[in-house]
Amino acid sequence: MKSAEIRKAFLNFFEERGHTLVPSSSLVPENDPTLLFTNAGMVPFKEVFLGRDQRPYVRATSAQRCVRAGGKHNDLDNVGYTARHHTFFEMLGNFSFGDYFKREAIQYAWRFLTEVLGLPAEKLWVTVHHSDDEAADIWINEIGVPAERLARLDEDNFWQMGDTGPCGPCSEVFYDHGPDVFGGPPGSADEDGDRYIEIWNLVFMQYDRDSDGTLHPLPSPSIDTGMGLERMAAVAQGVHSNYEIDLFVNLIKAAARATGQSDPDQPSLRVIADHIRSCAFLIVDGVLPSNEGRGYVLRRIIRRAVRHGHKLGARDPFFHKLVADLDVEMGEAYPALRERAGQIEKILLREEEQFARTLDHGMRLLDEALNALSGDTLDGETIFKLYDTYGFPFDLTADIARERGVALDEAGFERELEAQRERARAASRFGADQVSELNLEGRTEFTGYDRLRDEADIVALLDE
Ligand code: ATP
Ligand code: MG
Ligand code: MG
Ligand code: MG
Repeated sequence: MKSAEIRKAFLNFFEERGHTLVPSSSLVPENDPTLLFTNAGMVPFKEVFLGRDQRPYVRATSAQRCVRAGGKHNDLDNVGYTARHHTFFEMLGNFSFGDYFKREAIQYAWRFLTEVLGLPAEKLWVTVHHSDDEAADIWINEIGVPAERLARLDEDNFWQMGDTGPCGPCSEVFYDHGPDVFGGPPGSADEDGDRYIEIWNLVFMQYDRDSDGTLHPLPSPSIDTGMGLERMAAVAQGVHSNYEIDLFVNLIKAAARATGQSDPDQPSLRVIADHIRSCAFLIVDGVLPSNEGRGYVLRRIIRRAVRHGHKLGARDPFFHKLVADLDVEMGEAYPALRERAGQIEKILLREEEQFARTLDHGMRLLDEALNALSGDTLDGETIFKLYDTYGFPFDLTADIARERGVALDEAGFERELEAQRERARAASRFGADQVSELNLEGRTEFTGYDRLRDEADIVALLDE
């Protein structure tokens, strides 16, 4: 089954069961400055779960585009290293707003996995919260999952929206990719491997936590579930890694072509294939590269992709070329991507060209510093110089250092940043450059004129 067929089968299954199909909302959460990006299917329904918004339906289903590249959920550092994490992915979900609860949610999930997708029951493992006897009982006695394939866990199986408000236990479904892959079952000592991969998370919102931390039962409990489309596609296509599914195989081929690589197994190609999706979709949703907030996250992802291309030997702009390949894979499901492909290319090309001016020099400086290193930690001064003079975001330097088994002196870097802020504050008292407040990532960046210049340049570029 191709990814597009799984998406369709999922949405159909829940529509047939009385769920209203709700289109994916933007990656930039509406009216929610606390959240960097939409990172789960429930985000657009947050106000409904809190009882502050009413909808004409009590059951919904969606395929929500998500980005986890900053803020509370940040999978950026996992990309290229695990078989299952992306910065951009699609989360398929079914939701009940005070309508059905645990029993139906578990039954639906099981039927979809075993009947619609035809997965063998013996490959599925489940976890529940240690306090949740009700869910354990449904899985074991009603569904028939053997007790040895059910684990009762703690933190990973309790979900909450914030410090107060709706929360509850959850239940995760894992797929066993077989003994050829390293890793133990959920809850075991070596669960960190990639053999058992979490495919679906069912959240049972049944409490309201007050400001003393006390849990009060909600009058009408709700359901929020999320299943990763790419992980499900890997299972359905009989491959272990998400990067081996149809869509990624094609994007990796395209990335190899664009960077002049002949070996498709390079981890850098996976990173590039991942990053073109988050970058293109963030731009579709109106984020522009800049030096603060969401725009800075986008800029960091673009620079990371460009650096990985550089590592593969690409010396000319290549990243923007992948927009056309992404369009072939996803343009049909996302018409806005198709419509704006030309603009996205221009924006990415401009970023690539801008970074290309300093990347080579920065890489040389970093190489020299790493080669001359006596310990295993890179000093704050070098990290700061790379950041300030060569436009290397902290996480980009960290990504390179990690490949060489070197850690970064983050505290030293922060001290250098603070010193620079101090200098800028002193200068601004004489009316020089402006300094912005904290950005969404909690790190202060120099902005003011920089951001205005970025936006003006991009607007001019798109008018050409
Ligand atoms: P993991 O423990 O593997 O990091 P998670 O528990 O953080 O996953 P949830 O927040 O429960 O993930 O999200 C619901 C589902 O979305 C997961 O079961 C998984 O299928 C998918 N998913 C989560 N994060 C990613 C990601 N970075 N890339 C691809 N799919 C993801
Ligand atoms: Mg996670
Ligand atoms: Mg998990
Ligand atoms: Mg989970």
